[in-house]
Parts: sequence; C-alpha cells; structure tokens
Amino acid sequence: MTAENRLREEIVRLSKSLFDRGFSVGSAGNISAATEDGILMTPTNSCLGFLDPARLSKLDRDGRHISGDKPSKEVFLHRAFYATRPQTGAVVHLHSTFATALSCLADIDPEDCVPPLTPYVVMRVGAVRLLPYVRPGDETMGTMIRELGGRHAAVLLANHGPVVSGRDIASAVYAAEELEETARLLVLLRDMPKRMLSAENVAELKAVFGGR
Ligand code: ZN
Repeated sequence: MTAENRLREEIVRLSKSLFDRGFSVGSAGNISAATEDGILMTPTNSCLGFLDPARLSKLDRDGRHISGDKPSKEVFLHRAFYATRPQTGAVVHLHSTFATALSCLADIDPEDCVPPLTPYVVMRVGAVRLLPYVRPGDETMGTMIRELGGRHAAVLLANHGPVVSGRDIASAVYAAEELEETARLLVLLRDMPKRMLSAENVAELKAVFGGR
C-alpha cells in the first residue's frame, strides 16, 4: 500500500471514530491531511462516519481540485494553517458541542479563549484564539487565520466551532478531542470558583514538553 493510501485509510478511520463518539453529527466537520504533493480533504456534504477512502478530495499545493469528490467548502480554513504553519500535517474542523458552546459565550477572552485548566490542553492545543463570527463559506475567515501568522495551532470560530492543526492526522485529532474535553470542563465549572494553572505552571510545561 502506498503512503497516500495508508493516509486515506487513516483519515477514514479517525473520522469515523470522531463521528461514532458524537464529536461530529450529520455532515458537520471536515478533516484534511498533507501528502507529498498536496492535501487530502473530506468532501463537501460528506458525513465523517461514512467516508470512502477512494473518494476523498485531493488538492494540489495551489489548492486546485485534482481528483475525488468536490472538497468541503471550508477548505480555505485548512489551507490557511498549511500556509502559515509549515509543521502542519493535518487539520481538523469540528462543530463539537462544548467547544462550540464556548465559542458562543459573550465574556471569553478572545486572545486566550481556552484557559489553562489542565496540563494536557496546554501541551496538545496551546493558546486558542477566538475569531469573530462570519457566515459559513466566507473566505474572510481564512484571511483571519493567515493574519495570525502561524502563532496558534488552534482557533475557535465564534458561534461555529474549533479548527485545530497538528503535525500529523493523529495529533490533530487528539488535540481536537483535548480541546473539546477542556471546553466541556469549562462549561461544567462555569459558575464555580476555579483554580487554573499559573503562568509558572504553563511556562514549565512549555520548557519540558515544547510549545504548540
Ligand atoms: Zn464549520
């Protein structure tokens, strides 16, 4: 099996896993991964639970659709990460419940909208930027991600959901899961006094495990 075919199988397997555990419903969410000569992307209106590896969209390095079904219309979110973070091997965009709930709150800090509640969100996701609402399909969102200059591995689109990048498909999926679970904890603890990790705790994690 070629490396690309293995990657196609991996995208389908991890997408189904996300769907089966309720991280994605209906045709919401899309996933991409870098190949040697372009990117593979889940097709438009496809359900993450029922993908066909042979029908994944393939785009060349310039974003032109070269084979498979038509790509998701949110492909520009993905391309913005590949363009600004060279270490990016995969991008996961979900409408998962708790991260999306967090993206709808009026009083979160847009600079750091997922506070350091646990070490794992610091290590796997890093600081998450909240980007202002624009309608789905509006390519301004891609521009806003590009304007971050690659400083964030993950963003939260207001009233929409998370976009998370990783060095490969497994780490992007794990980071998206970590973001969702941290958002769940934040919503559960919303009205309770909380002890967050301190700036020193966060600096120690970055020194020991590297920054995201
Ligand atoms: Zn979306």
